[in-house]
Amino acid sequence: MKVLVIVDMIKGFLEPETKDGKCLLYLPEAKSIIPEINKHIKEADMLVFANDCHDDDDEEFKLYPKHCIGRTDEILPADGLDYRGKKGLLVLKTRFSVFYGTEFDVWLKKNNVKEITLVGVCTDICILFTAADAVMRNIKVTVPEKAVSGLTKESHEWVLKHMKTVLGVNII
Ligand SMILES: [Zn+2]
Repeated sequence: MKVLVIVDMIKGFLEPETKDGKCLLYLPEAKSIIPEINKHIKEADMLVFANDCHDDDDEEFKLYPKHCIGRTDEILPADGLDYRGKKGLLVLKTRFSVFYGTEFDVWLKKNNVKEITLVGVCTDICILFTAADAVMRNIKVTVPEKAVSGLTKESHEWVLKHMKTVLGVNII
């Protein structure tokens, strides 16, 4: 089973604002990877949407401005992702790693998944920490470099190299 984990491709990061107000962690570059992600969606057997989702008083807001509050449109999938007709799982996460505080690893074990592909944002935050947590669990990780986007071009490129050399991530 080809499992594609789509990390944080949600309105809170991809739109400057929603009907609930301004998105304070808007990533202007992130929309450009949607066509590439759609190609990977087509080839996948199973999609895992890993969406940031916080309470109003989340500890993360000591580090970052308020974003992706649970009851707002910010946690919904971004426009343009074409996942019609695909099987999917929704994982709501509160930290950088898709594994932290979620039942993602329970689901992987239950379905005997030993390999995942990670796409989405940000290369240098959630993709990196999720890849690390997957590798610690002996799960093989592939990251297609055109289907992830970083905070800056420099850190995106550095982290791709870092994941490859330190974690053995398959960068394609
Ligand atoms: Zn967050």
